[in-house]
Amino acid sequence: MNLGRFSMGIGDRFARQGRAQLSAFVEARHAGIDVTPVWNKSHREHSIVGSVPADVRREADAAVQALGWTGGYRVDADHIGLGTVDAFLAASDFFTLDVAHFIGRPAPEDDIRAFCSRHAALAREIALPGLDRPIVVTAAAIEAAARKFLLAVKEAGRTHRHIETARGADTFITEVSMDETDLPQTPAELLLILAAIADERIPAQTIAPKFTGRFNKGVDYEGDPEIFAREFEADVAVAAFAAREFGLPAGLKLSVHSGSDKFSLYPHLRAVLHRTGAGLHLKTAGTTWLEELIGLAAAGGEGLAVARDVYAGALARYDEMVTPYAAVIHVRRDELPPVADVMRMSAFDFTSALRHDPRNPRFNSQFRQFLHVSYKVAAEMGRRFPDALDACEATVAGNVRTNILDRHLRPVFG
Ligand SMILES: [Zn+2]
Repeated sequence: MNLGRFSMGIGDRFARQGRAQLSAFVEARHAGIDVTPVWNKSHREHSIVGSVPADVRREADAAVQALGWTGGYRVDADHIGLGTVDAFLAASDFFTLDVAHFIGRPAPEDDIRAFCSRHAALAREIALPGLDRPIVVTAAAIEAAARKFLLAVKEAGRTHRHIETARGADTFITEVSMDETDLPQTPAELLLILAAIADERIPAQTIAPKFTGRFNKGVDYEGDPEIFAREFEADVAVAAFAAREFGLPAGLKLSVHSGSDKFSLYPHLRAVLHRTGAGLHLKTAGTTWLEELIGLAAAGGEGLAVARDVYAGALARYDEMVTPYAAVIHVRRDELPPVADVMRMSAFDFTSALRHDPRNPRFNSQFRQFLHVSYKVAAEMGRRFPDALDACEATVAGNVRTNILDRHLRPVFG
């Protein structure tokens, strides 16, 4: 089972924009940009919205049928673990094994010793094609990596075996994710993590390390894009080396969990992909939900009223909205506009503040970041929210499609 060289995770919180999302991939394909769509949704999102994994499967299948999509597509059980995976087994054919919270917990001493002796030969300077400097691995680094990551990889192994037992081998794509943690992983650490993944016989096709810098939800990268680019290129070289050296799947590629809209990184990603021929899984989530709000606001009338009310309702429950996402957002509350101001916003004001156009002086990244995590309020509106989406379908779908096509697919994969 193959994911293809390029793939993109498209979260859709309310499972209503599948066709609009897929139409962006159709258009990209006409332009020669071949990217596999992956509908991803986490346990966290399902529990906040009150949806189930079968809803995502239904959405994806319906979109594919409606548009006659003949390419591959996947449904991703995003950020699952042993405790949450069972609900996803039937509906998903892509599993993101999130073991970040096992990082730093020590594995049994025997396991650590076994890992160190099995991989002792990696303690050297490893020159990789395309890199100016070799990856330096020492015996001490191997042991430190084992202490930090081995238990997490073993947990990924247990989860993978659990899925494989339930579904059968080679019926799903496996990703290992370690991105939702505090400290970035170095290329040398990534190499040792991949050695451990191979030892566990996890046929990982994608790996999501934690990169340098901050990936806050819905807004641009915080950090130096040049430093990110060097790290990303080294990680690409490491992944290619590890696939050969350890017998991992040949198409093994990096997964960048973008938290959406890391526009300043996109030219760098694109350049590395062109230079190296590497693949990429770019995972977004929430960017479509924000386009739903933009489409509603742009329509004016009841659509705009719904968008304003989502903000007012969310601001009144600020802590409840931001707490589940504390590690991946950085909202400066005092820079959020007062509710009274938002209630007076025109369609133009609201969409200008929310649409991710860094060159627009009216763009408000705090407003955007906060609304990114405020979808629970829309989920609680009963019929009002989906009815408004139906009534404003043309402006909503247009915004969803343009966002994926022109702000993500073309800049990264084009
Ligand atoms: Zn993620």
